[in-house]
Amino acid sequence: MRIIVIGAGAIGCSVAYHLAKEGASVTVVDPEGLRGGATLASFAWLNCHDKNPEDYYRLLMRGNSAHRELGDEIGHANWLRLTGALEWWPANTEKAKNHAARLDRLRSYGHPIELLSADDVLALEPDVSRSSLEGCEAVYYPTDGAVDTVVYRHVLMREAERRGTTLVEARVADLLERSGRVAGVRLGDGREMEADYVINCAGRASNAIGIRLGYSVPLDWRPGMTVTTDVTRNNISRVIKAPNIYIKPEGAGRLLLHAKSADQTLNDIHAPDAGKEGAEEIARLVQTVLPTVRDVKIASVRITVRPYPTDGKPVFGPLPGVAGYHLAVLHSGISLSPLIGRAAVEEILHGRTSADFEAYRPTRFSASAAAAQVSAAPI
Ligand SMILES: Cc1cc2nc3c(=O)[nH]c(=O)nc-3n(C[C@H](O)[C@H](O)[C@H](O)COP(=O)(O)OP(=O)(O)OC[C@H]3O[C@@H](n4cnc5c(N)ncnc54)[C@H](O)[C@@H]3O)c2cc1C
Repeated sequence: MRIIVIGAGAIGCSVAYHLAKEGASVTVVDPEGLRGGATLASFAWLNCHDKNPEDYYRLLMRGNSAHRELGDEIGHANWLRLTGALEWWPANTEKAKNHAARLDRLRSYGHPIELLSADDVLALEPDVSRSSLEGCEAVYYPTDGAVDTVVYRHVLMREAERRGTTLVEARVADLLERSGRVAGVRLGDGREMEADYVINCAGRASNAIGIRLGYSVPLDWRPGMTVTTDVTRNNISRVIKAPNIYIKPEGAGRLLLHAKSADQTLNDIHAPDAGKEGAEEIARLVQTVLPTVRDVKIASVRITVRPYPTDGKPVFGPLPGVAGYHLAVLHSGISLSPLIGRAAVEEILHGRTSADFEAYRPTRFSASAAAAQVSAAPI
């Protein structure tokens, strides 16, 4: 079967790899090659702490396991860091009560959580400042992991290309429709590419590409940013969620950093100085937790708008009455990408319903809400 995958983010790359592995003839189309999308700006933490209800939590847990299985299948999961995660927050606050309720819920699912003292945290991560832990409750999540999304995309595409996949660096402008089914794509330069099946994995841009089908996924407007530091003096080996900043080791002494307060500075993501204020905020915050990271230099600032369906859940599946077409738009897309790849094989190649995503079909949004967003959704 000839399949076009629109978008080479984590989702498109995983779909391409899984389909190619099962013998499909795959073409991936993305104007930015492997350099674009929310995937590049992602924090890429494999966790499921805030995922509700329990079915969704379990889906995320299966996604995390699927990364390990994918690593076994490919031979070595060099994109994956399975060192758990640390989190702490001020005790005796309203937020602390919410955290307690969250931990109770996770424990009721059987999720492993270890309560830590400040000494325990410092034994795991000696670079953390003791003062940042004062008056805080801390926990360790041993099953958490982190993904290096650059490596992950490259490995998946390399493995897909070994099985005959082609990556075309071009923009998809429209879908081709023939005899009542989606039959390929039209590129920005007018060229047409035909296929037996098209799967739209263009993240936030997927609505604009599928506009002729009269459906779009209602998306929240959620800009996000991460920064990568230059080489710093640090020995961090696991994800840290401190009260105001997220910290992740990025290899070679660099850190990947994220803060919700920095996201809130992104009023106009196209402004020439977009991200500047947020990057300064992040540079300030990281030093409150890691004093060795003094005068930190920011090597890159990555800004995006998340592909975030309004109910926060994945959107995966065909559209009613539209043959030859699947849609995959989701947040937590790094965690779920291996499962989306498997589901694409089940549904597109074998015509079977994927149990994982049965509850997350595009049809769950009312037709009117979805149609209203067709013209309104910014990219
Ligand atoms: C700050 C931040 C933190 C996050 N943290 C996490 C986390 O901890 N864990 C987690 O699992 N997820 C996290 N996410 C979410 C996760 O990054 C996304 O869900 C995931 O990257 C989505 O992947 P995707 O392939 O669907 O979309 P994208 O990565 O956006 O890829 C879409 C691709 O489509 C391409 N495209 C666009 N227009 C066209 C066109 N016209 N033709 C062809 N191609 C096109 C783009 O160039 C892009 O490469 C985070 C996101 C952000 C921003």
